[in-house]
Amino acid sequence: MVIDEVPLELVKCGMCGKAIVVEQGERHICSMCVDEEHRLYTSVRALLRDYERSGLSIRDVAEILKVDEYKVTHLVESGYFVLALRGLRPND
Ligand SMILES: [Zn+2]
Repeated sequence: MVIDEVPLELVKCGMCGKAIVVEQGERHICSMCVDEEHRLYTSVRALLRDYERSGLSIRDVAEILKVDEYKVTHLVESGYFVLALRGLRPND
């Protein structure tokens, strides 16, 4: 018997922390937070463009935008800022 279904995982939404079921490899975001995640991404991207050479940390970004640090971390871990944002660095 061949089983070719993608395994499911129980994870936490990276934005609100709610437990959700996703397919393996899928991003950890619930349907309620997709819009907020996109808005945050847009804000962080604009911020990092302004501060391109100053080497902001994830914590700096969270403080400037007045959002929870784990949400910024979620974006970074989701791979949003790998190439676009050289300035962003881990917290000290
Ligand atoms: Zn959520």
